[in-house]
Amino acid sequence: MKHPELCVQCGTCVTVCPVEMVGGHAIVTWLADPESIDYSVWLCTSCWRCQEACPQGVDIYELMMEQRRAGNEPAPAGYQAAFENVRARGLAMDVSQEELDQVRAAWGLEAVRLPTPNIARALLHYDE
Ligand code: SF4
Ligand code: SF4
Repeated sequence: MKHPELCVQCGTCVTVCPVEMVGGHAIVTWLADPESIDYSVWLCTSCWRCQEACPQGVDIYELMMEQRRAGNEPAPAGYQAAFENVRARGLAMDVSQEELDQVRAAWGLEAVRLPTPNIARALLHYDE
């Protein structure tokens, strides 16, 4: 799977990508030659719309994730902070129990307890 060589440059992926809609992406150019443009795969929102719409079955999203895993472009600081927060306590946001209580109360939601680091690590099968 993945098959970037099957791209016929029809532009369908461009019309459905939310990041393309705000001018932040260049999927077709990137697929044709990833080295040819200054392009960040970290802009992708992981919505899968491009992959579902592609008439050629190009796994566009999978290709972007492959590039992320390759590590050639470090994750932006905000992503790294979110990863650390998830790893530490199961939430992407750095929010205290008190802050969470205030926000949920303001929205009329019942209180929930933040997971402790040990619980978060067990849920994520994190073994360090
Ligand atoms: S929708 Fe598929 S075939 Fe069309 S430009 Fe995008 S990747 Fe290429
Ligand atoms: S998965 Fe990424 S590249 Fe594809 S449409 Fe969504 S934001 Fe765009």
